[in-house]
Amino acid sequence: MKKLSTDYKGRCGKCHAMIGENDMFCRYCGTPKGKGLFLPYENVMECVYGPPTTTTHTCRECGHSWKVHGLCEDRARFCPKCGGGLDTESVCEL
Ligand SMILES: [Zn+2]
Ligand SMILES: [Zn+2]
Repeated sequence: MKKLSTDYKGRCGKCHAMIGENDMFCRYCGTPKGKGLFLPYENVMECVYGPPTTTTHTCRECGHSWKVHGLCEDRARFCPKCGGGLDTESVCEL
């Protein structure tokens, strides 16, 4: 049975990805914090399998840069500070 969640605390109102406390935009879909339809969503943990990868994102607009360590490339596409587009580089650690 599928359970739908409406818990949007600290999440994007559109794609329900986690949004950091100091972030102004969702880094995955570019929606401004606090905006979106806030539809109920299926609360499933996404399972990703892959080699450990370090992804470096750099904003083309404001230069904000950060790194994400995880399995597979981080899927962020937007700057959490200004909503601008990113240059993304991922390095496999194996
Ligand atoms: Zn989003
Ligand atoms: Zn930016």
